[in-house]
Amino acid sequence: MQKIIVASNNLHKISEIKKLLEGLEFEVKSLKDENIFVKVVEDGKTFEENAKKKASEIAKFLKQRGEEQFIVLADDSGIAVDYLNGAPGIYSARYSGEHGNDAANNKKLLEGLRGVPREKRGARFICAIALIDSEDTYTAVKGEVQGKIMEDLSGNGGFGYDPLFYYEPLKKTFSELSSEEKNEISHRGIAFKMLKERLSRYI
Ligand code: IMP
Repeated sequence: MQKIIVASNNLHKISEIKKLLEGLEFEVKSLKDENIFVKVVEDGKTFEENAKKKASEIAKFLKQRGEEQFIVLADDSGIAVDYLNGAPGIYSARYSGEHGNDAANNKKLLEGLRGVPREKRGARFICAIALIDSEDTYTAVKGEVQGKIMEDLSGNGGFGYDPLFYYEPLKKTFSELSSEEKNEISHRGIAFKMLKERLSRYI
């Protein structure tokens, strides 16, 4: 069975990706599973650039370690808020200063939108996925989903900005959706639908 290494240390993201790849003939591994402790500096200007950088640096490391057959998958994602001119965008994970502090990031976002009416609270989640294999074949896809930023947190599921992201067609925040429902319509789910076609060449 072919192995896919997910270039992330975000456990929530990895678990969503594992679910999205369920049913395909791949063994999905995290960086930790593979004893990869490489720190990739995310200094790209776009989600695509950062995803490509993560995937290619891990692929380079694997080659140097002598691995001959692998696929590396990197997800770079975030939220772009209309009223904030697209912020936090590529800085979503570290919006409040501390990398990966979801509670502080959500608090900062709420403060930035205090008093802003519903109709001006539009936002979209964006997910860029880069895939690089041991032959240096590179593939990239991008998914987006539109929503609105709520005035308060709502729901317990998901991660990151999910409790604030209201998805109009289902009248729920992403945190109020089951993981199956979220994967069906999310930015990541959309990107993976495109990716699946391209992954079929490895099966
Ligand atoms: P990355 O790991 O550098 O790509 O950072 C992604 C950041 O964007 C996360 O820390 C979250 O704050 C946010 N994010 C990305 N995808 C999602 C999602 O599906 N739900 C909620 N927040 C997300």
